Amino acid sequence: MDVRNCRECGRLFNYIGGIKLCPDCIEALEKKFADVKEYIYQNENCGIREVSDAVGVSVAQIKQWVREERLIFSSKAGSVIECELCGAPIVTGKYCQKCKDNMQKQLTSVMDHPTVEKSRKAVRDKDRMRFLDK
Ligand SMILES: [Zn+2]
Ligand SMILES: [Zn+2]
Repeated sequence: MDVRNCRECGRLFNYIGGIKLCPDCIEALEKKFADVKEYIYQNENCGIREVSDAVGVSVAQIKQWVREERLIFSSKAGSVIECELCGAPIVTGKYCQKCKDNMQKQLTSVMDHPTVEKSRKAVRDKDRMRFLDK
């Protein structure tokens, strides 16, 4: 049996599957999560700091929930976290749309060559337009 100290309250608990908190603290954290979610729901355009102050949860913890895509702030509230690749401000998840698109492109270009196909089509469209001009 693997027994460790809870990262939050320091109490000993059975350590299972990389979770660093005791069951009580996990439950308390889930309650906080519900509070945060409720607060964002009630105050649509609130920023991350406002929520942190109002509910009493650290900004870092809220950011983690946002990264886990459990929470989404209104885009009017501004971005709360940054893209892990380019640092661009984003609202949820790990990466911005541009980096997601790039990753998607890299993935698909390995399978077939959509970029080549696209440029061929562009050339064809251009030719057609020139033809219509005449
Ligand atoms: Zn604990
Ligand atoms: Zn990015």
